[in-house]
Amino acid sequence: MGSKRCLQHNRPYFSTKYKVKRRIPAPDFTFMTNLVPGTKFVIMKKKVLVTGGAGFIGSHIVDLFIENNYRVVVVDDLSSGKEENLNEDAKFYKLSITDKKELEEVFQQERPDYVSHQAAQISVSLSVRDPLFDAQTNILGSLNLLQYCVDCQVKGIVFASSGGTIYGEPEHFPVSEAHPFRPLSPYGISKVTVEHYLNFYQKNYNLDYVSLRYGNVYGTRQDPYGEAGVIAIFIEKMLKGEIPTINGDGEYIRDYVYVGDVAQANLLAIENMLKLAKVIQREKKEKIVEEIALNINSNGFNLGTGVGTSVNELFHLLREIIKFPHSANYGPPRPGDLRENILDCRLIKRVLSWQSEVDLSEGLKKTVDWFKRQTLL
Ligand code: NAD
Repeated sequence: MGSKRCLQHNRPYFSTKYKVKRRIPAPDFTFMTNLVPGTKFVIMKKKVLVTGGAGFIGSHIVDLFIENNYRVVVVDDLSSGKEENLNEDAKFYKLSITDKKELEEVFQQERPDYVSHQAAQISVSLSVRDPLFDAQTNILGSLNLLQYCVDCQVKGIVFASSGGTIYGEPEHFPVSEAHPFRPLSPYGISKVTVEHYLNFYQKNYNLDYVSLRYGNVYGTRQDPYGEAGVIAIFIEKMLKGEIPTINGDGEYIRDYVYVGDVAQANLLAIENMLKLAKVIQREKKEKIVEEIALNINSNGFNLGTGVGTSVNELFHLLREIIKFPHSANYGPPRPGDLRENILDCRLIKRVLSWQSEVDLSEGLKKTVDWFKRQTLL
């Protein structure tokens, strides 16, 4: 038995437990030309391994890479990801990044050019209740991955870091990459730790990397039943005619960024990985702008909109889009919630020419439309 069948797509997926014998022959080249008669130039498609590619953000990243003619391999244990999020053209391995042996086999078999590392346990409150579990997935799982990236000479890795947790309660707004790391939860600590390890692996093993420090990501496929993802939670409730509860006074401010924009930044980061390393070196050497030279020390880039929105404003916007007749309920504040977080995103604009394209009201409309379609299915 070389492969099992996914229930949703009746398509094969791979488990290293069943040593892949019957491989689906993935096309190994984009095109062949024979400009000079008798000579063939084969242009290899790059291969990207996306961890967490069945999850909310990871599945959008997978779709975008496939649209851009990359060969994509997904590693996901489906602990929160869903089979229906999986792109049919991606090759899927159901396994945990904490499983060294299985992960190693995938790397040996697939030999990816790049890695986009999205897999994580994403619950801040779970990380507070069970720091060990958080560290096992988010730190040790990431270290397994980094080791195999080095062993298989991966050209670069993009890491999903968290602009909302690594800086703690920021001293100034918008918060730039130069702000000290002051994570207040084990989840934030794990993201900072992996950023440090990435720096270590780059310096010692020449593994290029980019850490994208996401703001509050929202959009289609977000789980409305998690603890985070206020937009998905509100939309789900409002479409059912239920009144959402706003925690505290609703004046908690966040930087909401659309998932399609986040996927685009992952693509840009990988496409420019080599160029980026040079830009960073040049900017550091020339110290064109002292602050930027300092900021790009760690290859970490904030990824948001630079615009803060309160939960009250969000509810108001959604109320208009959905034409929801009721006001919200108010409940007690959630312990430990930061009051405000807005990300300064000028650095990624300067270095990667990325900026968010989808503004909040457009992103909310797209998300509401998707949730409406889901309820009809
Ligand atoms: P998600 O839960 O939808 O995606 C995480 C994916 O990782 C899931 O598919 C899950 O099944 C998989 N996974 C979890 N543990 C795994 C393991 N041990 N081995 C293999 N796969 C595993 O969450 P998301 O919101 O899409 O988050 C993606 C990444 O972005 C995470 O690293 C998260 O920390 C980061 N991030 C998200 C946000 C946000 O606003 N959603 C903000 C900052 C950072």
